[in-house]
Amino acid sequence: MNHTAKPGEPLGPSTRGVHSGARNPSPGAPVVTPIYQSSTFFWGAPTDGELRYTRYGNNPTLEALGEKVAMLEGLEAALPTSSGMAAMAMTLLSLAESGDHLVASKHLYGHTYALLDSELPRRGISTTFVDPFEEGAWERALRPATRAFVFEVPTNPTLRVIDPRPVVSLAREVGVRVVVDGTFASPANLRLGELGVDVVIHSATKYLGGHSDLIAGVASGCEDLIRSVRETLKLYGPALDPHGAWLLDRGIRTLAVRMDRHNANGIGLATWLESRPEVSEVSYPGLPSHPDFLVAGELLAGYGGMVSMVLEGGGVVADSFCGALRLARVAPSLGGVETLVCQPRYTSHRGLTPEEREAIGIPDGFVRVSVGIEDLDDLISDFQRALEQSATEARR
Ligand code: PLP
Repeated sequence: MNHTAKPGEPLGPSTRGVHSGARNPSPGAPVVTPIYQSSTFFWGAPTDGELRYTRYGNNPTLEALGEKVAMLEGLEAALPTSSGMAAMAMTLLSLAESGDHLVASKHLYGHTYALLDSELPRRGISTTFVDPFEEGAWERALRPATRAFVFEVPTNPTLRVIDPRPVVSLAREVGVRVVVDGTFASPANLRLGELGVDVVIHSATKYLGGHSDLIAGVASGCEDLIRSVRETLKLYGPALDPHGAWLLDRGIRTLAVRMDRHNANGIGLATWLESRPEVSEVSYPGLPSHPDFLVAGELLAGYGGMVSMVLEGGGVVADSFCGALRLARVAPSLGGVETLVCQPRYTSHRGLTPEEREAIGIPDGFVRVSVGIEDLDDLISDFQRALEQSATEARR
């Protein structure tokens, strides 16, 4: 079916993003995969092959999207889901059953942490959380019942870069799967499958979609694993709807060029912020001051559009800084063309106490920036005015 990009074909990532998943060209056929806005499909008898039903994830719009993402990741298969959380939850529920155990990084998106910490235990699946930067942490947490290692690269919101390579080699030795959420990097900056990760998760709501107008997720891996994630999805039901799949396919076509601008604006804004007296700390993997600068340089094709900073004066100043921004929008989420800022103490990490947040590097005054694709000079002017105004207000 796929005429333009087949697995193993030596095409660059931008070309794959545009062409993979496309159907055979025939006179009069649409160039763009249509939205198959149909819940069900004609099927008369077993000779008609696989039953198609949109909840099964095999609606043709979803299938084309799955092929595109698999090709982008350099993996065999990919399954679109109704959200990033659905991709993570379906994956973990397909890998572990009651009595099983997971080992996860303690640096995780708040709801992923809650899924592991309080929801999966209700299904008899326990998790040990580790500090992934502590020597031997993954190995020490292993038990005979351990089924998977789970982490994010880069981490939300502290932007630490865990090197998947040693975790993958330990996992191979002991027969454990590796599940990594690569949302913050996107497949344009980091192809986790090529590093041996078994299941790559994305909240496609973010960079893959790219326009803050859809909620979606995707899980990619080998045929066998993704088939079993699909079986779990059939039971729990979080398939992506055809219109969302079409929007996501549309977003992915421009992923490479958007990421080029996110990367350029990210390093530009992070470097400028580091020179500002109102900012006590900047975290960006492309800055030499970042603790994972070297490993980030080895792993990432670009350092991305996520920048975190801590403002002098703490939470009060962070509130007034956010209120003073005019161009950047104050909202949770990330990865869209517009610059968004948020304070994780109000959003992803509001379930933790100030002390717990501080312990994982998120003190009050911490502001996360998803740098968009605007002109960098305009962003800098907006940030400069808001920084100066909030510092002046704090002195009053
Ligand atoms: N993973 C990361 C790193 C995220 O930041 C988020 C959401 O912010 C998710 C997963 C969940 O994605 P979704 O909102 O699409 O369910």
